[in-house]
Amino acid sequence: MLPWLMKAEVVSIGTELLLGEILDTNARYLGASLPAHGVDLFYISKVGDNLERLADVIGRARDRSDLVITTGGLGPTEDDLTREAIANVLGEELSVDDTEAGRLREFFAKRGAAMPERNLKQAMLIPSARVIPNPRGTAPGWWVERDGKIIVAMPGPPSEMERMWEREVAPALEARPDSGRSVLVTRTLKTAGVGEGHIDEMVSPLLKTNNPSVGVYARADGVHLRIGAKAPNRDEAQQLIEPLEAEMRSILGDIVWGADDETMEHAVGVLMRQHGLTLAAMESCTGGLLMHTLTNVPGSSAYVRGGLVSYSTEMKIEWGVDAAVIDEHGVISDECALAMARAVRERLAADIGIGITGVAGPAAQDGKPPGTIHIGVDAGFAEPQSVSYQFAQGREAVKRRAVSTALAMLRRTLIAAL
Ligand code: ATP
Repeated sequence: MLPWLMKAEVVSIGTELLLGEILDTNARYLGASLPAHGVDLFYISKVGDNLERLADVIGRARDRSDLVITTGGLGPTEDDLTREAIANVLGEELSVDDTEAGRLREFFAKRGAAMPERNLKQAMLIPSARVIPNPRGTAPGWWVERDGKIIVAMPGPPSEMERMWEREVAPALEARPDSGRSVLVTRTLKTAGVGEGHIDEMVSPLLKTNNPSVGVYARADGVHLRIGAKAPNRDEAQQLIEPLEAEMRSILGDIVWGADDETMEHAVGVLMRQHGLTLAAMESCTGGLLMHTLTNVPGSSAYVRGGLVSYSTEMKIEWGVDAAVIDEHGVISDECALAMARAVRERLAADIGIGITGVAGPAAQDGKPPGTIHIGVDAGFAEPQSVSYQFAQGREAVKRRAVSTALAMLRRTLIAAL
């Protein structure tokens, strides 16, 4: 019987990772998931498609960790070398597994194609390896167990890797005999509208404990409070979190808009549906990003009427913004943002209109510096609201920030008025 696997190492394989062509999101995903399964991740390594270096990295990982998780390099091409490297590290022979070869041929036959001979490499095994099924692709994973150590090899494409991890590998790890394992469970409360320092002060009496522990982080969509608890199992960890979460929620009230993976657009959608309201937006500098974000939520057609991208001043006027407002205040102004909000609300017959205008950058416009943003919210049932601010970041960040601010304003309008 193996002792509980305490130390893990993730090895991300692929030259494109080293060249910065793709980001190592697989390691990030595994890093986020491992603590919940009671496994400590101590190292993440990246290595290119070179047999010698790959074997070297996997060998070293196996020396210093109990569990080595690789992703990538399981494809059929010559530079997919993960199997060969593991075989080298363990000094075992690769041979074609007939069952796997049959399964692969069937996979291709179902798609009306003959299997290229190269793919036979994906049916290879070594004596210490067993196959981990991969219904999303041709590359099966490997579970390799020898001398008290485990190597898990998973494919590179994130959708294949994530399924294999969730459905096959994580449950297999959980099912192992438990000797002193402790799992880390986290709960993240998301807030908006109040700064990091102020939040820290509000919850400071709760920040003193070690288990559960609390961290305060400023993020693009507001300040997040992360509660983490360690316990022998998930239920016990959950029980440590619950009273602290309740206390935090009662201190912070409706500053908290969501938890864990919840997004602001989702939280806004819930409120819109609850109240049976609809919204429309006229966007200038965000170029439709607000609409894109709102419509990322499934079922958003229940409350999103539509949006207009009025990038030029003429279009703003054509779609109902009073030219006199623009003459007097300019297009980069609270007044223009409010006029856009009202115009789109009326034109698209929505309950709430949102207008966003500003300078995404990098150049200044109308004498206003890049990063200047004005947002107006015009709801038929409440006083129109506007905000303006300046955000010194790149063009894309300015646009994203404008959208998250507009969503936060929308949420406040809904909560205050209804
Ligand atoms: P396949 O059978 O599809 O070839 P594979 O196991 O050989 O799978 P790779 O060829 O190494 O995987 O990578 C395939 C694709 O998976 C990459 O082009 C990339 O899009 C994605 N990918 C690989 N590794 C990672 C990683 N660490 N993080 C995010 N994406 C990755």
